[in-house]
Amino acid sequence: MLAVSLNDGVVTVAEAPRPSRPHGHALLHLRMAGICNTDLELQRGYYGFSGVPGHEFVADVVEADTAELVGRRVVGEINLECGECSWCRRGLGRHCPHRTTLGIAGWPGAFQEYFTLPERNLHLVPDSVSDEDAVFAEPVAAACEILDQVEIPLAEPVAVLGDGKLGLLVALVLAGHGCRVELFGHHEAKLALTAPAGVIRHLNEEGAPASFDFVVEATGSAEGLMQAVRMTRPRGTVILKSTVHGSVALDAAPIVVNEITLVGSRCGRFAAAMPLLSAHAIPLAGMVSARYPLAQAAHAFEHAARRGTLKVLLLP
Ligand SMILES: [Zn+2]
Ligand SMILES: [Zn+2]
Repeated sequence: MLAVSLNDGVVTVAEAPRPSRPHGHALLHLRMAGICNTDLELQRGYYGFSGVPGHEFVADVVEADTAELVGRRVVGEINLECGECSWCRRGLGRHCPHRTTLGIAGWPGAFQEYFTLPERNLHLVPDSVSDEDAVFAEPVAAACEILDQVEIPLAEPVAVLGDGKLGLLVALVLAGHGCRVELFGHHEAKLALTAPAGVIRHLNEEGAPASFDFVVEATGSAEGLMQAVRMTRPRGTVILKSTVHGSVALDAAPIVVNEITLVGSRCGRFAAAMPLLSAHAIPLAGMVSARYPLAQAAHAFEHAARRGTLKVLLLP
């Protein structure tokens, strides 16, 4: 079978043996995978990663302990938790200190024809949901995490900063949930993708100072956080979605004076994402920029890294 691997920033594709399935795990055959910014960061060497990347996928179950799973189309939670520590017992295995993470840390990823995941990580994909939509389950779950962490009253205006993949998905998910979303970005065509969801779009505009109770920072830039703080009302909340590597210059005074809450936000629960996908509540059309076969993964990574590119998909 073909497997993509990343070593010292170089993407290679080679024949590899089909992985064997540990007890309690399913053997999965890839249908479609998505390249995420995290994969590009792994390529840039941020986490000292070497191995098979890939954590956004749709696959068919080939073998499993649970007979009913075999032959089913699934997506999967990416954190392999211990199941026993205090975090896991609280349902927060995403923070389990003993976890490995599919295609990111300690567990071979989905950019290969066959891979394995614990059965308990899997979620069935309803027939009504296409592979093209299901492959977004992981980033949609990450957007849903905001709603798990912060109680945003329905119809409450929420500002989302950034019209990259992450910002667009956050805007679509919050709008699908019923929030009044205002999206701030610099690319008219990308902002337009959120029009079907009723998102109010602001092109090349900074929001007025202290104009929102909730601001989601998804720009991926160091400046985004300061902009978010400026736009937040006293006692408001800034939700940090983008991982900016290195230190960020931050004037703490407005945060203290205006008693602003900063909330870091990362992976989310698929259980929250699947109903949105099943209900077709998130218009994902237009989010895919290109598709490549696994064999051309190096080109796919190059394409994904180009400015302005949205989701690049890999197919076996
Ligand atoms: Zn991702
Ligand atoms: Zn644990």
